[in-house]
Amino acid sequence: MITKIMDVSEEPINIDYIREASEILKNGGLVAFPTETVYGLGGDATDMEASRKIYAAKGRPSDNPLIVHIARYEQLEAITENLPKTAKLLADAFWPGPLTMVCNKNQVIPYETTGGLDTVAVRMPNNPVALALINESGCMIAAPSANTSGRPSPTKASHVYEDLSGKIDCILDGGPVDIGLESTIVDLTEDVVTILRPGFINMDMLREVVGEVRMDPGIVYNDKGTTSGARPKAPGMRYKHYAPKGDLTIVSGDEDDVVSKINELTAQAIASDLKVGIIATSVTADRYDQGQILVIGDRADEKSIAHNLYDILRRFDELGVDVIYSESFSTPQMGQAIMNRLLKAAGQKTIEV
Ligand code: AMP
Ligand code: MG
Repeated sequence: MITKIMDVSEEPINIDYIREASEILKNGGLVAFPTETVYGLGGDATDMEASRKIYAAKGRPSDNPLIVHIARYEQLEAITENLPKTAKLLADAFWPGPLTMVCNKNQVIPYETTGGLDTVAVRMPNNPVALALINESGCMIAAPSANTSGRPSPTKASHVYEDLSGKIDCILDGGPVDIGLESTIVDLTEDVVTILRPGFINMDMLREVVGEVRMDPGIVYNDKGTTSGARPKAPGMRYKHYAPKGDLTIVSGDEDDVVSKINELTAQAIASDLKVGIIATSVTADRYDQGQILVIGDRADEKSIAHNLYDILRRFDELGVDVIYSESFSTPQMGQAIMNRLLKAAGQKTIEV
């Protein structure tokens, strides 16, 4: 299969391309498309064959459910049952936007899409291409991130092409995404709203809308880097994810100490003939004297860090580094989300200085 790339990065969006992609979806094919979080790999959510194709293209375990993307609130009502009041409150506050809600499903969405679960994860993306595609096709679109399973999520069309070229029908290239980290996932099927995956919409923002919110115990790590042992409720959070080829370690502490420690570790690694990558910020970058130094962003602008994280991990793969040292980022708004992804990429390996 030849994967066609269609450029929809300029406004007004080329409606011919949206129509062509819509036809592909309606005929059971796969379309990668931009959202404000990361690129999604979409198929008709009501078509079990399309869902099977998504798992096959990504090499994703079939028990890891897909997120259903919608463009109108009524579509959420059409595919769920016993929808709690919190759903409407959260939708009014955050949709379209980077919040996914897990609700009880009815029979409209097949088990192939939900990984066999009786719940369905639903989100209304805040991206004009994504919304145009959902509206034009008339499909609710099942879409996980458009990467090969286990690789960093794609934040540019070129990342999708690297992973899925030849395996999907087309890619709508809407340029680099806005946020760069996957959506916050909340579970609305229990008494208390529960965060299953941290993202741009944080705990405080959720509490302002629905009151009590808790974190899934299965994703809370203690200072030894291990969880309570509880099983994460989102199947995707149980898998090793986002693992760069180089062995990543996060170094945390005061900035000066971190820089010295990374310089020391880098010198040792280079002495043992290893190729080293360093994830630095714009402030610290020129204080590192060896290694491949990539600037993730500005510590004071956490959006820049989220935006560049996955691209940097992919670039280190291309550079073929053996080890990677990263600074730690305690960013107030998205701190949990950024560190959650980085710690996963590092297999929880941190050095405290
Ligand atoms: P991705 O879009 O690639 O970020 O993957 C979707 C994420 O949503 C995965 O971590 C899934 O495990 C999670 N997810 C999707 N549906 C459900 C559900 N019904 N219950 C819990 N987690 C879900
Ligand atoms: Mg993913």
